[in-house]
Amino acid sequence: MNRDLAEEFAERLREARAELYRTVAQTGDELRTLETHQPGAPGEDAGTELVTAVLSRLEGQEKHELDEIDAAQARLAAGAYGVCEGCATPISLARLRAMPTARYCVPCQLTRET
Ligand SMILES: [Zn+2]
Repeated sequence: MNRDLAEEFAERLREARAELYRTVAQTGDELRTLETHQPGAPGEDAGTELVTAVLSRLEGQEKHELDEIDAAQARLAAGAYGVCEGCATPISLARLRAMPTARYCVPCQLTRET
């Protein structure tokens, strides 16, 4: 995956994360803290506790989505993004654009669901 595409998907993942944050935050202050807080950043700040408290409101599907976004961003950082975890072939751009957190190509996904 070239740099332009990596940038594009980094942006899509940031946007997906922001969307979840807007869902869970109850005040503007909470939203700002979530958006400026970098998980695992050096020198944990006072916002950590609030972030933990706010994110604990996420449940079920939303929690799963956030975990998937975390995992996708880690893959992007590691240079492993967009490669199927089942068969190690590149996942199509159309699929990634529809679902930026996809771990599997379509055939592997179908195999796993059956
Ligand atoms: Zn595959």
